[in-house]
Amino acid sequence: MVDRRSVSIFGSTGSIGRSTLDVIASHGGRDAYDVRVVAGGANATLLAEQARAVDADMAVIQDESKLPDLRAALAGTDIDTAAGDAALVDAASQRVDLCVSAIAGAAGLYPTLAAIRAGSHIALANKESMVCAGDLVRSEAARMGVRILPVDSEHNAIFQVLEAHHAAAIERIILTASGGPFRDYTLEQMRAVTPEEAIAHPNWSMGVAISLDSATMFNKGLELIEADQLFPVAHDHIEILVHPQSIIHSMVGYADGSILAQLGTPDMRTPIAYALGWPARVTAPVERLDFASLARIDFEAPDETRFPALRIAREALQAGGLAPCAMNAAKEIAAEAFLNRDITFLEIASVVEHVLEGFANGAAAASLDEVVAADSEARRLAGLAVQTRAV
Ligand code: NAD
Ligand code: MG
Repeated sequence: MVDRRSVSIFGSTGSIGRSTLDVIASHGGRDAYDVRVVAGGANATLLAEQARAVDADMAVIQDESKLPDLRAALAGTDIDTAAGDAALVDAASQRVDLCVSAIAGAAGLYPTLAAIRAGSHIALANKESMVCAGDLVRSEAARMGVRILPVDSEHNAIFQVLEAHHAAAIERIILTASGGPFRDYTLEQMRAVTPEEAIAHPNWSMGVAISLDSATMFNKGLELIEADQLFPVAHDHIEILVHPQSIIHSMVGYADGSILAQLGTPDMRTPIAYALGWPARVTAPVERLDFASLARIDFEAPDETRFPALRIAREALQAGGLAPCAMNAAKEIAAEAFLNRDITFLEIASVVEHVLEGFANGAAAASLDEVVAADSEARRLAGLAVQTRAV
């Protein structure tokens, strides 16, 4: 058992947030973890339930119109409540041993950066923090002596492998990808897919945004950029490999030709448990891998013709500066437009590519203001592209 840790969970009502509370409950609960803040977007009922269950100090909801509901649901407790973007940042500014960053999308950057500046170690599920402002996040983390423990399963796998082995001898990183629900689809079939089909992931149960990103493979594109930020490997030594069963969560290749991998069932509670317990290992309530019944595991090269997101992300990574941030912002707008049935599935990548062509890229982001400006400019350009279908 580790010492009792203070923890804040941003995005507690989401898929990662709920899994985090599940790991906490099954591993010592309040004896092991002192949950200070739970924070979510708009689900006041669930947020209040979570705050009561862990006896949090504070519950913060992003949607200000839901504050009365949250207050009513927490009446009679001494749990503080607050709402809005500024309240999220304020709550993240209270130092804890570990801040779980699990808000979806670029919105997760602001509380994550606030938590780093407060000196809290970070369990990072919100990959967008690294994609939009990786340089800033890393330099602030270094300045504050803050550790970033990756929760994204691929990066968590690589982190686990690297922890035990010599960084200097790393030759390559192999990021595995399930290929999503349309792995075998022809371009013709992909043209007609619906939002319902696109958010039904074959292996992982996740939030809507990341499920759609897995279908376009923008998720793997974001993860490529996230891996470049997190690990000491040149970006042309980060490979993507399609592995439909999602059992090998990623691999590291060394100078002597050895490849080390981390394996497990596709359940985020394993990487979450790793981050919550680090540097110890804690038990996680997940199904154990049964190799005999698994029988086989497959691999294939990714197809950048059917999944242009992979090429777009690699180009954004090579361009550097604010291009990854612009790519993510444009992708968020295009994804929303697809979910609203304003554009087709294949047009998501076209919108993003169109935005990146028109975007005036700057040098590596030095400040949060520059990131915010790039993010909103790319959103504006993507909105225009969606409206005029000029893609
Ligand atoms: P989700 O949609 O299930 O949950 C998102 C959470 O963020 C919810 O609590 C929601 O209320 C909150 N939220 C959304 N917008 C907000 C805003 N503007 N301000 C404050 N809170 C807001 O998403 P998820 O699947 O849990 O993913 C969360 C993050 O973790 C994403 O960055 C995702 O890429 C990453 N991630 C998820 C998984 C997974 O298996 N779900 C795996 C790897 C990485
Ligand atoms: Mg992942």
